[in-house]
Amino acid sequence: GKISTLSIREQREGLPIRKLRDEFIAAVRAHQVLVVVGETGSGKTTQMTQYLAEAGFTAKGMIGCTQPRRIAASSVAERVAEEVGCRLGQEVGFSIRFNDVTSPETVIKYMTDGMLLREYLMDDELKRYSVIILDEAHERTINTDVLFGLLKGLVKRRPDLRVIATSATLDSDKFAEYWFDCPVMRIPGRTFPVTTHYVTQPADDYLELAITTVLRIHVTKPAGDILLFLTGQEEIDDACEKLNSRMKALPASIPELLILPAYGALPAEMQSKIFEPAPAFTRKVVVATNIAEASLTIDGVYYVIDPGFCKLKVFNAKTGMDALQVVPISQASAKQRAGRAGRTGPGECYRLYTQDAFKTEMLPSTVPEMQRSNLAQVVLNLKAMGIPDLLAFDWMDPPAPATLAEAMQNLFALGALDEEGLLTRLGRRMAEFPLDPALAKTLIASVDLGCSDEILTVVSMLSVDNVFFRPKDRQSLADQKHSKFHQPEGDHLTLLCVYQAWKDSGFANAWCFENFLHGRTMRKAHDVRKQLLSIMDRHRLDVISSGKDFTRVRRALTSGFFTRAARKDPVEGYKTLSHGQTVFVHPSSSLFQKGPDWVIYHELVLTTKEYMRSVTAIDPKWLFELAPRHFRKVDTHEISRRKRREKIEPLYDRFNPPDTW
Ligand code: ADP
Ligand code: MG
Repeated sequence: GKISTLSIREQREGLPIRKLRDEFIAAVRAHQVLVVVGETGSGKTTQMTQYLAEAGFTAKGMIGCTQPRRIAASSVAERVAEEVGCRLGQEVGFSIRFNDVTSPETVIKYMTDGMLLREYLMDDELKRYSVIILDEAHERTINTDVLFGLLKGLVKRRPDLRVIATSATLDSDKFAEYWFDCPVMRIPGRTFPVTTHYVTQPADDYLELAITTVLRIHVTKPAGDILLFLTGQEEIDDACEKLNSRMKALPASIPELLILPAYGALPAEMQSKIFEPAPAFTRKVVVATNIAEASLTIDGVYYVIDPGFCKLKVFNAKTGMDALQVVPISQASAKQRAGRAGRTGPGECYRLYTQDAFKTEMLPSTVPEMQRSNLAQVVLNLKAMGIPDLLAFDWMDPPAPATLAEAMQNLFALGALDEEGLLTRLGRRMAEFPLDPALAKTLIASVDLGCSDEILTVVSMLSVDNVFFRPKDRQSLADQKHSKFHQPEGDHLTLLCVYQAWKDSGFANAWCFENFLHGRTMRKAHDVRKQLLSIMDRHRLDVISSGKDFTRVRRALTSGFFTRAARKDPVEGYKTLSHGQTVFVHPSSSLFQKGPDWVIYHELVLTTKEYMRSVTAIDPKWLFELAPRHFRKVDTHEISRRKRREKIEPLYDRFNPPDTW
């Protein structure tokens, strides 16, 4: 369409926020904190940083802008660099975990909220910044919520610092109240009406219905692009494949349909495609995860298809762990999704659920991540920042005390906290690594256990997406290739073996291709490994090879993952040691058929059953040797002496060791 013919300058001039530019700059000059509310696409993320830079705020430090999602941080930075007219990483850069694209010239820096949190860990005054924008605060990620509390304290210590929180929804009054009743700037919306359609009967197979809805719109409706919301990469790839093959079956007279997937793990060149207007006489359909709900703005969308689900990290009290789960979205999300259809003109939204389900089954708004996730890493970070009393921390919405207690117990069991809830030396070291505390502990313990070289590789491989590529049409060939790497003692060793073989090939891309491995993901793991290695160097943690004694590797893994141990159950599957829950070995595991008596696992995934993924066989004796605190009964006491309200209770004292140990 029309947008493509506008120059970048004209596009910038036409954004709703443009009219408020001077007012915005004046407000930031006059107030330390400002809340900005505006529809997705009004120009908050891409323009505010530039306005502040143009107004001279960069003289006193960088302008930092946080994003809850990695893909948003990198793609927005790319766009802004283009608008500014510089190379990415020069004046405009971004920083996400394991990938820093900035330089000494950088004055506008987009980053994930997690990265700013890590910077705060190094410098609790954030001296390099003159302005911090906490963008997409309505998403209520744990990291943004924690930054809220930290920056609220920091603005008192640094009168020159400016903080801006943005939101695409109406929680703004709550935000303003939290931020010392700061002013709120509202960007007038520029939206068109959206007609909403519901299904009359709940769908049996929403994916199938979504696909037929795309095709029906394409064949019967006037021009305008389509945005379809699905839950994750696999589902999206599947849908794109199906759409492609169904399009082939349609008569040649039907115009072309450009089918574009959009999810976090997409390579950069594919990412930018979703923003490009479709060629003439072609309709575009973007099949996206939640990222298209508010983080990314795609112009030209007239039709939205909303099946009503998303994937969320949910803390499962039964297992004591986070798991990604497909859950119904909230009413607020549904409205936000529908709104995507009304940006360019009057639009239509097809909800693949009933109106009744919308009213009765969906929560009004999404539960903040803080209240549904495992807090171990957050607690570790806060402790490392010297915040002793987490219940008294200035949360906008405090986490549930039970969740906080569970996180503390976990950290105690790992040896990161002492019995009074204070950070130990080990805990301080663990906080240096941008890793899940269990992985950080494994890595540090592996030095003494004489296998840090191998564990470094395993941890890196666990920190990236699945490396095994199984295309639908060649699954058995792929499985056959993968089975060569399978190690009888478990999947962590399989990952090690894959990396080693790739290394022996000279890190060749062709080798990955031949073996049905994602080359890009392997390179990512290689990158992560280098970065972890440099942190280890800095802390004088030696890199020691086990000399192929993989028992050491399994012992090191046990020292970090003993809270995720499971024992074979005589009746079915396994029982987790911590919560006694029934779980199963994932079919992709090399232990799927074997089923050793004792295992540790990396994560649980719930599909038709609760599956353990990345599983390794262990000797139960190691649990006692390596995790005595886990089983020992500890004295619990209120530490009123030090005015700390936290106390550590024994973690799993109900698990008496079996007689056979
Ligand atoms: P907000 O933060 O208020 O949701 P943005 O600043 O992200 O708004 O987007 C403003 C406009 O910038 C969008 O309408 C879109 O036209 C354009 N834009 C944003 N990101 C990109 C991108 N990666 N590629 C091309 N255009 C983009
Ligand atoms: Mg934005």
